[in-house]
Amino acid sequence: MNRKEKWQQQRKAANFKLSLIMILLIIIVLAPLSYFVLTGLNKTQEPKKEVATVSKQETKGSTQSSSKSQATEQTTNSKIDTSKWISVQEEAWVPTLMYHHITPEITDSNCLAPEDFELQLDALKKADYTTVSPEEVYLILTENKKPIQKVVCLTFDDGFDDFYKNAYPLLKKYNMKATSFVVTSFLNKISYLTDQQVLEMKKSGLVSFQSHTVSHQSMESLSAQDQLEQLQASKKHLDDLLQQDTLAICYPSGKFADNTAELATQAGYKLGFTTQPGFAAKSDGLLTLSRIRISSNMTGNEVLNTLKAAANH
Ligand SMILES: [Zn+2]
Repeated sequence: MNRKEKWQQQRKAANFKLSLIMILLIIIVLAPLSYFVLTGLNKTQEPKKEVATVSKQETKGSTQSSSKSQATEQTTNSKIDTSKWISVQEEAWVPTLMYHHITPEITDSNCLAPEDFELQLDALKKADYTTVSPEEVYLILTENKKPIQKVVCLTFDDGFDDFYKNAYPLLKKYNMKATSFVVTSFLNKISYLTDQQVLEMKKSGLVSFQSHTVSHQSMESLSAQDQLEQLQASKKHLDDLLQQDTLAICYPSGKFADNTAELATQAGYKLGFTTQPGFAAKSDGLLTLSRIRISSNMTGNEVLNTLKAAANH
């Protein structure tokens, strides 16, 4: 090996070492760099994800609020399984019973003892009656079809707390539905239902809460503007509290003016209940439906006889 060849070999070896050092340097420099770059990228992507989630929620929220009543209505209706209902040839009607107090202390004819109420529920059950909600009443009256059993709607006026104490346990025992017409400004006051009780009973699926106005003033004595205010404000109160589309109004003391039904429709109600005696039928007007008053000491048989007599009328 001459000097030139030796020098070339040494140069090759030096170049090889230099290449190795370069590769090592590249690895040493690039590895952390790539780590930071990747981490940095992830960090910049995270807010993007948040933005995406927020915009998704916003979109969801806006569609929810715009179609809130529609969605609630669909939920309400979707709960009603009408697949086994039968068509009715003649006009459909629903006997709607009107109760006030369920209490052992009988002070007037609006009070019914819990034992008597239980006897009535027992008699209705044995006679093959099924209880229906206001949503079901609306379907029966407007679509002329009904459950195969005989139907009855149990309504309780004023939202007294004895409904929670004395009626609700019996409704659970017999698995029967009822409707409570509450005066929204009376809620949480002494002797009246509390928000908590209302929410608990609504959750059970057995009790429906509908409007009995804001302050129990006679619709007959109010101006159109004041009637509308009572109808709208009480509906909004219940819609917000119960996340529902409140569909029924019960006029205080059953009194209503010539324009009340129209105003109730304007406020968004589909059904209106009075104290006019009789069965709830569409021909009377969906916003002026009749009911059957249940007074104290009525036995189960007396209720059944009243229903039969009214049906044959
Ligand atoms: Zn009342």
